[in-house]
Amino acid sequence: HHPRRTPAVSKVSTVSNESSPTPAGGEFDSLVAIVTGGASGIGAAITRRLQAGGARVAVLDRDPAAAPDGSLPIACDVTDDASVRAAVERTVTELGRLDIVINNAGIGAQGTVADNDDEQWHQVWDVNVVGMVRVARAALPHLRESPVAAIVNTSSIAATAGLPQRALYSATKGAVLSLTKAMAADHLPEGIRVNAVNPGTADTPWIGRLLDSAPDPAAERAALNARQPHGRLVAADEVAGAVAYLASPASGSTTGVGLAVDGGMQELRLRPR
Ligand code: NAD
Repeated sequence: HHPRRTPAVSKVSTVSNESSPTPAGGEFDSLVAIVTGGASGIGAAITRRLQAGGARVAVLDRDPAAAPDGSLPIACDVTDDASVRAAVERTVTELGRLDIVINNAGIGAQGTVADNDDEQWHQVWDVNVVGMVRVARAALPHLRESPVAAIVNTSSIAATAGLPQRALYSATKGAVLSLTKAMAADHLPEGIRVNAVNPGTADTPWIGRLLDSAPDPAAERAALNARQPHGRLVAADEVAGAVAYLASPASGSTTGVGLAVDGGMQELRLRPR
C-alpha cells in the first residue's frame, strides 16, 4: 500500500566543503525529532546534540520539567497509548513534520528471576519494550512522509553481555535489539531506517541515584569505573554522538545495527573487570 521509495537520500549537506563560500547547514536543519525520556541523562544529551545540528525537538517524558532549553516539552507516559498518540500528534501540529524518533525512555530493574514478580516484569516490559512500539506505531504515518526518516532505539550492553543481577532489565533490552532488527526489515521499503545504540554503564542521574544509595558513593563510583573496559563510565554525550550519527543522513546506508558505546565490552567480549 505504500510505494517503495529510494530510502533516505539526504537533502541536507552532511559533508563540510571548505571551499564553499556559504557555511554548511546543520545536519538536522529543517528536521523535527521526538526524544522520549529526553528530560534527563542520555535523552537530554541526545536532545541537545540534535538541537546543535539544527533539529527542532519534542521531548516526550513523564516528567518533562527539566527538558533542555529550546525543546518542546510534552508530558507523556509511554505506557499509555492515548498519551503517546496525543503527544505525537501535538509534535506534528506544533513543529510541522516528523523525521526522527529517538526511543530512549527506559527504567531499570535489579535481581535474578527469583527476585522480580509478574507485576514487575509486566511493568518494566511495558515501559522498555511496548513503550517503544507505541511511539513507533503513532509516528510511522508521519515518518513515511519524511525523505530522511530514522528511528533510534536505546538498548544496552545488557542486551548481549549477560550482566549478573539484571535478568528482567536484560530481557527487555535484548527485546529492544530484536525489535530494532525486525522493524528495520519491515520499514526499509518505506525508506525508514531503524537502528539501536547499546550504551555501557553511562554517567547519568540514573547511575547517580544508584551510587548515592551505596554506603560510600565515592568508593562505589571508583569501583564502577574500574569495572569498565576503558576504566571509566560512558559519557552521555558519547551516546548522543552515536545516536546523532544513526539519526542523520550520514548513516543513510545503515539499518538494523546495535551500535556499541561501551569501551569495547560488547565487540571485544570483555567482561566487567
Ligand atoms: P534517566 O533515568 O536519567 O532518564 C530517563 C528518562 O526517561 C527520565 O527523564 C524519565 O522521566 C523518563 N521516563 C521513564 N519512564 C517513562 C515513561 N513511562 N514515559 C515517559 N518517560 C519516561 O536514565 P538514563 O540513564 O538517561 O537512561 C536512558 C535510557 O538509556 C534508558 O532506556 C536506559 O535503559 C538506557 N541505558 C542507560 C544506561 C546507563 O548506564 N545510564 C546504560 C545503557 C542503557
